[in-house]
Amino acid sequence: MISKKFFFKIATEKPWFIIGTVALRWIGAIFNGLGAAILIPFLAVLLGEGQEEIIPNAPPILKRLFSLFDGFEGEQKISAMLLCIVLVLLLKNATGYFGGLLSSYYGKYLVKRIRLEGIKILLEVSIDFYAKNKVGDILTTINRESGRASGAIQGVINIGVICINILTFIYFLLLISWQLTLVTTFLLGIVVFLNQYIVRKSKEFGLKLSEKSRQYSRKMLQILAGIRLVKLVANEDAESQNITRLIEQYEKIQLQSKEISSLVGPINEMSGIITIIALVFICRYLFTNNIQEFAPILLTYLVVLFRLLPFIGKLNTARTQLANNLVSVDIILDFLDRKNKIFLESGQLEFQKLTSDITFNQVSFSYPNSNKLVLQDIDLVIPKGKTVALVGASGAGKSTIADLLPRFYDPIKGKILIDGVDIKEYDIKSIRGAMGVVSQVNFCFNNSVRYNITYGLQNVEEESLIEATKRANAYEFIMELPQGFDTDIGERGVMLSGGQRQRIAIARALLRNPDILILDEATSALDTISEKLVQEAIEALCSNRTTLVIAHRLSTIKQADQIVVLDQGKIVETGTHDELLKKGGYYSRLYNMQFAAHEFINNQETIKNLSHKIRNNLNYITCSLQLISEAIVEDTEEQTQLIDDSYESTKHLLEILQEYESVSNTSNMSKVSG
Ligand code: ADP
Repeated sequence: MISKKFFFKIATEKPWFIIGTVALRWIGAIFNGLGAAILIPFLAVLLGEGQEEIIPNAPPILKRLFSLFDGFEGEQKISAMLLCIVLVLLLKNATGYFGGLLSSYYGKYLVKRIRLEGIKILLEVSIDFYAKNKVGDILTTINRESGRASGAIQGVINIGVICINILTFIYFLLLISWQLTLVTTFLLGIVVFLNQYIVRKSKEFGLKLSEKSRQYSRKMLQILAGIRLVKLVANEDAESQNITRLIEQYEKIQLQSKEISSLVGPINEMSGIITIIALVFICRYLFTNNIQEFAPILLTYLVVLFRLLPFIGKLNTARTQLANNLVSVDIILDFLDRKNKIFLESGQLEFQKLTSDITFNQVSFSYPNSNKLVLQDIDLVIPKGKTVALVGASGAGKSTIADLLPRFYDPIKGKILIDGVDIKEYDIKSIRGAMGVVSQVNFCFNNSVRYNITYGLQNVEEESLIEATKRANAYEFIMELPQGFDTDIGERGVMLSGGQRQRIAIARALLRNPDILILDEATSALDTISEKLVQEAIEALCSNRTTLVIAHRLSTIKQADQIVVLDQGKIVETGTHDELLKKGGYYSRLYNMQFAAHEFINNQETIKNLSHKIRNNLNYITCSLQLISEAIVEDTEEQTQLIDDSYESTKHLLEILQEYESVSNTSNMSKVSG
């Protein structure tokens, strides 16, 4: 598997980091043991006991250790020993420090390598990857899992270092006395076994405890949520007993867990004491009966032994950590695996300018991992400088055709030719560079207006920027922003309206001056003024450009040079607007439906206006009647005037009601036909 190779490669890319880390930490551990071991002869000298007292059958290594400073006498000996201890401690700390630094550098290097490789894949992988993976998950993989995977590699090295150290210390212990080591191993083996048993039991109790706690919470939640039912069926006592039972079970398990875990301290302490007593007896048997004589041997042995024990603890921790992190290694391996992702290969040919046309030749397509043919045998020609519009119901395949042009996907059958050359033969970047896409959802970065418009371009002159924004009908609103072009537009451009974002995208496209334009034209979500401004900007953008438009509102593409009607992935009609209307086929039905829908919306507006008028007239009439009936207006002349006006209003009201009825009838009809 390529990625496994890659993983191994990055793990061993800097062998000196690994060798250095292992060597330094190993040397550090030896100095650590040595520093402690020298303390014993030092203390013996301080207490006035010389190496002469070392028993004759003491192990050779100890004899050598105790006679290290034989060349010195009295004060000199103490100073030399002190110096040696300080030196050893210094070296131990220095190696520990540099070993730690090296390991930390290596860890950072690994994370960086994994992340960079991951980001490279993310930028190169086909767009389909993003349809299948959530951005949040991708970010977690890149950020957290890469850290943990690097931790796993470091974990392996760490375990290696710990094992080497353990073996070294065991070697020392064996050199001092293999008999003592045998007994210690046996006794400590029992302790380790008991500890592991307790840990396993504690884990079991832990699981039981959390299960009981979950049961308790669930029960409480049920009771509280259904308290009305509990009361209604008078089930309080039974529920109270249930809860009590759960609480008692929980407490029982807690107690059992405590009984077991509390054993750890006494067992360890007792076993420690038993080990030391056993060692004393063995020392007496092996070396001499005089405890004062073999004390230095025993102490040195114990010092080395107690330096070894923490490594065993560390080994367990490192193993657990590694087991946890190995899951992340699998995730990262899967993420870095190029075989399970689609990458589009780039051609060599540099695309300059469109000279003739773009042709879809019998193109069929289905999305990766799907059997459904989304496009079937599409034949389509977009001549240079012309506008071709794609229309059809939602899901017909319009956006898919538009996605094939910048090679977000490749057809599964057939070819797309640009100036007669298969699109796959062109350098993918040069092809995409020649295309501009303005869609209904125009993404904006959380940055300034300037950044968003000039994104991907270098050294854009101010005049070109102003010119493009003016043509995109965006200049005026940009100038009204607090810092003009340098105003930050917030996350995904939230500071701007939909229409403004669209005009920003159009300005961006104008500035890039793409040879081929793909327009996912959607102005329906905009208010009337925005729609007009956007429509004007789009016209400026399309003029004299080869354009593929995905049309949502058929009224906006009447001028297209050719309209291609799609239905369920197939082209069902092509022609100009007038030709297609005359034909009376699918397009004309679509058009009439949209027209009816448009009428319906207009009618709704009229109905709203009419009911507003009706309310006004009724208000006037009620008000007038109230003024007269409650004798607020007493003057008869005024009263007559009010009655006359009310009469006029009533007549007017009847006329409005008539109009209202006719409009609402036509509206219902268009709704039925739509
Ligand atoms: P339109 O633009 O005409 O509304 P689309 O080209 O978006 O239609 O979709 C055509 C068909 O392809 C639909 O059935 C849609 O469900 C399916 N489709 C779109 N995108 C994907 C995708 N990433 N994976 C699988 N199927 C998809």
